[in-house]
Amino acid sequence: MFKKYLLAPGPTPVPSEALLAMAMPMIHHRAPDFIPVLDAAKNGLKRLFQTQNDVLILCSTGTGGMVASVNNFFNKNDKVLVIDGGKFGERWSKICKAYGLDVKEIKVNWGYSIKPESVEELLKKEGNIKGVFVQATETSTGVNHDIEALGKIVAKYDDTILIVDAISALVAHNIRTDDWGIDIMVGGSQKGLMLPPGLSFVSVSEKAWKKAETSKLEHFYFNLKAERKKLKENQTNFTSAVSLIIGLNEVIKMLEKEGLANVFARHARLAHATREGVKAIGLNMFAKELPSNSVTAIEAPQGVDGQKIYKVLRENYGVTAAGGQDHVKGKIFRIAHLGYADRFDVIIAISALEMTLKTLAYPVNLGAGVAACEQVLL
Ligand SMILES: *Cc1c(COP(=O)(O)O)cnc(C)c1O
Repeated sequence: MFKKYLLAPGPTPVPSEALLAMAMPMIHHRAPDFIPVLDAAKNGLKRLFQTQNDVLILCSTGTGGMVASVNNFFNKNDKVLVIDGGKFGERWSKICKAYGLDVKEIKVNWGYSIKPESVEELLKKEGNIKGVFVQATETSTGVNHDIEALGKIVAKYDDTILIVDAISALVAHNIRTDDWGIDIMVGGSQKGLMLPPGLSFVSVSEKAWKKAETSKLEHFYFNLKAERKKLKENQTNFTSAVSLIIGLNEVIKMLEKEGLANVFARHARLAHATREGVKAIGLNMFAKELPSNSVTAIEAPQGVDGQKIYKVLRENYGVTAAGGQDHVKGKIFRIAHLGYADRFDVIIAISALEMTLKTLAYPVNLGAGVAACEQVLL
């Protein structure tokens, strides 16, 4: 037997409660049976997103929700600002450019967080920026951006909206959509929400809907105005991802039973324990500022290939974590503590890391990381 552990920043493990709920016989998405299902999902999502705005449910991975956040609200040549501190910031740029937007970028060194003042400066200097795009957690570096601070800045501009990719941060961090002035927030099913891949969620403020009125970019599948209209009837525009939405209701129930404040605290504790474990092993964190509660990026020690650590973790010890991307490939690896994760998942990760380093002939005191972890989790 070779037992496997999924500790990657998406997809994440799916609890049996959700798996069983999703095994229910299919129901028709236009039949009366489905109405209360979608009603529960849309209201539950509003509570998770901490918003009074509609949260639209799309049948796509998270990137689909990102695309919809661009092609429903802007026009060709609109000037927008992308905060690019990693792979997913870069993705915002690529999507915006694909739709002909005029993209200004603030590049943030990988491992660091955006300085909100630099956004304020750029908005002032450029004058007519229509949208600011950012990640709540930049999954490729394990760093958070200060969304609350950015919300305060963008709110001063009547014609500028704030678009937040919270796909990997949702549930792991307390993100207050309405209080912080987030106009569009994107979530996905396969991260903190503990579901299989296949759903994305997009909340839209009135300020953003106003922009949708004048947007002429082409879209057919991701038509958010049509989705909004349908959502009022507890329907989606096209066939709903019935089973995933049934699963969604189940995980919302689980999260609310635990209590959202406790869910955030759990993620904070698991992230803290992971960092303490890593430090005790003698490795360094890649995130130099605002480390995420969803995923911890760790620097591979001198002379050890980070991809090798990732590979040995998986092949020898059954732990699927994640490697590094682009120029940090081989230099870092990442361990998630996201969604259906608890104390012993972190212990497994740290223990497997110690054994992996030993396997790679790197000097490590077996048990030192685990002990540090346990101290935090006790
Ligand atoms: C996972 C993730 C996405 C979405 O990726 P998909 O593969 O389309 O689901 C987007 N942004 C961030 C920050 C992510 O972590």
